[in-house]
Amino acid sequence: MKSSKRTEIVKLLQGQQTGQQVTAMGWVRNKREGKNVFFVTLNDGSCLQSLQVVVDPTTTSDEVLRKISVGAALSVNGTLVASQGKGQSVELQANEVVVLGEADPEKYPIQPKKHSLEFLREKAHLRMRTNTFGAVFRIRHHLQFAVHQFFNQEGFFNLHTPIITASDAEGAGEMFQVTTLDLKNPPRTEEGEIDFKKDFFERSTNLTVSGQLEGELGATALGKIYTFGPTFRAENSNTSRHLAEFWMIEPEVAFYELEDNMDLAERMLKYVIRYALEHCAEDLEFLAQRAAEEEKQKPQNERSEMGLLERLQFVLEHPFERLSYTEAIEILRNSQHNRKKKFQYLIEEWGADLQSEHERYLVEKHFKKPVILYNYPAAIKAFYMRLNEDGNTVRAMDILFPGIGEIVGGSQREERYDELKERAAAFGIEPEALWWYLETRRFGTVPHSGFGLGFERLMLFVTGMTNIRDVIPFPRFPGSAEF
Ligand code: ATP
Ligand code: MN
Repeated sequence: MKSSKRTEIVKLLQGQQTGQQVTAMGWVRNKREGKNVFFVTLNDGSCLQSLQVVVDPTTTSDEVLRKISVGAALSVNGTLVASQGKGQSVELQANEVVVLGEADPEKYPIQPKKHSLEFLREKAHLRMRTNTFGAVFRIRHHLQFAVHQFFNQEGFFNLHTPIITASDAEGAGEMFQVTTLDLKNPPRTEEGEIDFKKDFFERSTNLTVSGQLEGELGATALGKIYTFGPTFRAENSNTSRHLAEFWMIEPEVAFYELEDNMDLAERMLKYVIRYALEHCAEDLEFLAQRAAEEEKQKPQNERSEMGLLERLQFVLEHPFERLSYTEAIEILRNSQHNRKKKFQYLIEEWGADLQSEHERYLVEKHFKKPVILYNYPAAIKAFYMRLNEDGNTVRAMDILFPGIGEIVGGSQREERYDELKERAAAFGIEPEALWWYLETRRFGTVPHSGFGLGFERLMLFVTGMTNIRDVIPFPRFPGSAEF
């Protein structure tokens, strides 16, 4: 039997094994030839820091020395010693170096220098081997773990809602069709339409845009549920905040009113951000420095007042500003920005849909902290939101974050059967298509609420990265599904 006996670099750097014989394995980040000695920087992804390996060229074959190049994979056995050099506390004095996998220096694209994020996006198969992406994806792991931990501690049950769905009635966005029909020669009905009765599910199906409707079924049985799954939107929006495939966290809670919903969202966001600060300190500090350097490239008036870590801390320490849509419209309409026509879409009257520029104005310029907007006009929100007594607003709430805009969208749901049916009809939704959803309102209906948090939008905020394509390992967006 063979075993690797490897110790992870994160463990070696803690120093307890100093003086011992150990084996490290990883990829070469850098190589320097000193006087009578080779310094190799080895990284195994277990943490941001690399391990310095000291290789004696007189006891290592020329062939091995030649093969130690940036990108190559090594197994190094040696003695862990206190480091003489600065920048690290321990280093590995190599006895034996085995080259597990070579990397042709002429062809390996990730060199020890600064590559642009755009360049690295085209090298998505290798970009995780950089400090930046290593940090981002370690944080991504911890953040998703924090989400599960938060809900578990609060007594929620994780519910797996379907990825393939037939309900095209949610209206959250454009959908991807799922079919096994022959695209070249699909079966047709007598009217000449494509006959989805002959398709795999005997109906037309899509990739889900939200697990909410099924989530509501769970909540009206288990009480408190959340989903955390992949979500798909075929919207052709080439923005830095939209993906065609993203991950959404959707809690749904029976007996919750809108305000309980806001409290839950705020508590959750603060919990996971605090968790990241506590568990990802090294990676966050690295990204904070990175972001600070990026800031320096910007003109003075566009630089943000706070660094990444201060921004995270600030969110933890301040209650989110809560205000109604109506109040927000007043602020926006009377703002200098609106008067001087600096918005692309000017705010003229109540009822206008808020664009990202308005959301960001409220958060970044006016309140300078996260904002929860609630009670939106019914006409610009989904059919399932609880109609208020005024008859023209619904109990919706969006949470807006600095640098991002909308990070959470949620509502209290319409629990009254007649009202819901009427609202669905007004949105052109056929009740038959959603018969199962409507039945929850006929059998033991209760007030309930929930929201959707885009996991990658949260990642943007926590990591300080500015393009959503850089916080998911393999981004899907129009024209791109290579990796
Ligand atoms: P936006 O107006 O920003 O496009 P939305 O109102 O269409 O978002 P919702 O349907 O409310 O989004 O979805 C809930 C949450 O999912 C949003 O608050 C956001 O965090 C996230 N989200 C929505 N669409 C996308 C997308 N295409 N890529 C990544 N995250 C998304
Ligand atoms: Mn929304």
